[in-house]
Parts: sequence; structure tokens; C-alpha cells
Amino acid sequence: MSSVILRDIVKRFHQFTAVHRTTLEIEDGAFVTLLGPSGCGKTTNLRMIAGLLDPTEGEILIGDKRVNDVPIHKRNLGIVFQNYALFPHKTVAENVAFGLKYRDVPKSEIEGRVQKALDLVQLPDVGGRYPKALSGGQQQRIALARAIVIEPDVLLLDEPLSALDANLREDMRVELKRIQERIGVTTVFVTHDQSEALAMSDKIVVMSAGRVEQVGSPAEVYNTPASEFVANFLGASNILPAKVAGRDGEGARLEADLFGPVTVPAERAATLDGAGAAKLVLRAEKLLLRPQDTPADGMVSAPATVETVDYQGQTVRYFVRVGETQLQAINMIDGSPYAEGQAVQVAFQPKDCAALPGA
Ligand code: ADP
Ligand code: MG
Repeated sequence: MSSVILRDIVKRFHQFTAVHRTTLEIEDGAFVTLLGPSGCGKTTNLRMIAGLLDPTEGEILIGDKRVNDVPIHKRNLGIVFQNYALFPHKTVAENVAFGLKYRDVPKSEIEGRVQKALDLVQLPDVGGRYPKALSGGQQQRIALARAIVIEPDVLLLDEPLSALDANLREDMRVELKRIQERIGVTTVFVTHDQSEALAMSDKIVVMSAGRVEQVGSPAEVYNTPASEFVANFLGASNILPAKVAGRDGEGARLEADLFGPVTVPAERAATLDGAGAAKLVLRAEKLLLRPQDTPADGMVSAPATVETVDYQGQTVRYFVRVGETQLQAINMIDGSPYAEGQAVQVAFQPKDCAALPGA
């Protein structure tokens, strides 16, 4: 097992800069996810760690060793890509054994290690079959077995679940996380799916346009987004204009244009400047619709009109209008949902807000 460090990494393709000066430390044994929209540079970073691409500038360290000039087959990595590309003319066991043969592991050892890897991915009995006889999910498990059988220092996973259908994907999330914890291998996982990242990671690296926007635990990036981009990428947020009125023991006192005074807890307003314009960040699931005349009871509230109702089964997504502003609310269904055109009250707890600097 090893840590991975990217130090001042830049990657340019001709004129185009795909990765802007990135520094990142992935601790030994951690499950770290690179999360961001398509084209933000996730795969490029992973390919540089793998040794499939050379960085234009900067250093990559695996363990304590600089690996810029170490070829891929000497980096001892397990790699799984989205299109898991098993060898079709080899049996499952031969597929899994491939990396061991390549590394001159003695024949006497190979069979036992292959079986152990197949046991770990919970497909102990398929060694004699060919890949085409397996389902997509099973093939993906075999790809994982092939990656971990070599006991890699680092496991690199590039959207490994995205070719699977929704239910299977959720099962495989749990499975993959279980296997990673069992063997304790340092893992760099790439996805554009925020719920996948939140569910699986020790640490999430949120990326946008070749830059790191924020690094933190799932709770940190979710509750205290460092930018508007992060606030919106990890689920729907309302970004409300406000002014900083001061600070006290409880936190940052803001004056929100739509809602009046809101005190944001200090740890959720860490990047806020002393004074001036600010943005109040309020997650859609923290904005509650309730009857028009509900007493305030410690919540911040305002009258609103329901504009659209999007029924989602357990929850409803509302767009409501407060003054001239449209806000988004995702609420659990308790009785029947509010109707389009209905006058309601929207309310939230100040402790659920975060604050960012700027207009
Ligand atoms: P992601 O994995 O986050 O979707 P990529 O790392 O694949 O993004 O790509 C980042 C950017 O770099 C994209 O704009 C992509 O078009 C560009 N890019 C990736 N590989 C190459 C390449 N070999 N040549 C030119 N541009 C590339
Ligand atoms: Mg990619």
C-alpha cells in the first residue's frame, strides 16, 4: 500500500491545458474520489498516475518514490476502466491470472491467488467460464479481481460502475467499498456521479475545468461547499444574495435580501470575508414548505407561491417564488403535496446554511 502525491502537475495537450497546476495528496489506504463533470480532467489525472500519460510539468510520487520516469508495468498498480475489456478468448481464471504470469509469479502460487481474488469478488465458481457467459456486473467484478490479484500498491478505478444499470450500480458500490476496506488498498476512484462519491469516499476531490475546487470528506464538501460550483454540483442549492452584518460568538451574521437576518455557524462561513457582499447557500432539501400561517418557531421564513411540483415518489421537488426570486425545495412527502399556485410559507434553519464571499 502506498500514498500518492501529485505535486504542481500541469497537463497540456498542444495549446489546451487539461490540468492546471494541481497538488493533491492521497493518503495510504484511503478511498479518494475525483469528482466532476465530463471533461474536467479526471481521467487525465488518473492516466498520469497510471503512467499512461506524461505530465507536462510537476511530479508524481507513489509511496516515497518519484515515478515520472517509471513505466506503467513497474508501478504495481491495479487499474479498472469503464469498459472493462476482459480478454474474450481467455477463461475467467486466465484473465485474472494474466497480471501474475506477466510478473513471473510461480505457477504453484497462481491458482491459489486467482481463487482468492474470485472469492473476494464473490464469484468463486466462474473460473472456467468465458467472459461472454457472464453478465455485465459479473464481468466488472472479474475486472476488479484481475486488478487486485497482483496486490497492487494503488488501485485506480475510472468510472468502473457507469456501464451498469441503476440497481446493479448501487449494489456494486457497496461491494466495491467492502472489498477496498477488506484489502485496505489505496484507491483513486473517478466518477461524475455525486451520490456515488458521497456514498463511497473517505475524501472527495471536486474538480472543474482542470482545477481542484475543493478537497474534503463527503460531509465537508456537502455541508460547507467552498464555491458556488461545489454547492451546485453536489446536489441542488439555492444561492441567495446577502450582506455581511458582522460576526459574533455564534457565527457570521448575514442580512439576506429575501429573508432578513440569518446567523450562519462559524464553521460554515470559514471563507467569508469580514464585510461586504456574501452568498447564502441553502440546500434544496433544507428549504421546507409549510402552511402559510405557521408561527416562526426559530426558523427563518418568508411567504411564497408554489410554481411547479415535481413528484418523485418519496420526495417532491418544488419550485417556489419568493418575491421575484425562484427557489428550489426538495421535501419528503407528508400527506398530499402542495399544489401549483398555492400560497405557502418557506422556512429553513440558519444552522443548515453555509456562506460564501462575493456578490
Ligand atoms: P474527464 O475524465 O473528467 O471527463 P478528461 O481527463 O478525459 O476528462 O479530459 C479533460 C480534457 O482534456 C477534455 O477537454 C478532453 O477533451 C481533453 N483531452 C483529454 N485527452 C486528450 C488528448 N489525448 N488530446 C487532446 N485533448 C485531450
Ligand atoms: Mg473520464
